[in-house]
Amino acid sequence: MSDCIFCKIFKGEIPSTRVYEDAKVIGFKDLHPQAKTHLLFIHKNHTSNFNDLAKTDPQGMSELMSAVAKYTEESGLSQAGYRIVTNIGPSAGQSVFHTHLHILSSAKLGMFGE
Ligand code: 5GP
Ligand code: ZN
Repeated sequence: MSDCIFCKIFKGEIPSTRVYEDAKVIGFKDLHPQAKTHLLFIHKNHTSNFNDLAKTDPQGMSELMSAVAKYTEESGLSQAGYRIVTNIGPSAGQSVFHTHLHILSSAKLGMFGE
């Protein structure tokens, strides 16, 4: 989608600090981190939110989840412990309408933040 900021990020039209990339998925640092580690993982195929992804691209959902598992295993984040958050719609505060998973890790995460 041409006016989507996360599409622009994976195409390299907007700079980002990438931590992971494969043929289908990228992971990069959130611009406004809410935890010591705060990453965003997206599929390169544009969908608007998690439900849209699940309905229209179940293979993409699997690729996205597998990429997170692979990255967190290889980086040691899974041993330290981490959380996946995805906001869907207005009351969750979704602000970017390209499906993304927040990957959060700190010494000790509270239930709803640090
Ligand atoms: P949402 O509120 O939609 O769940 O999450 C959007 C996230 O994208 C926010 O945590 C915000 O900080 C992050 N974000 C917004 N614009 C940019 C950007 O241009 N670059 C990066 N790296 N993160 C962004
Ligand atoms: Zn997009």
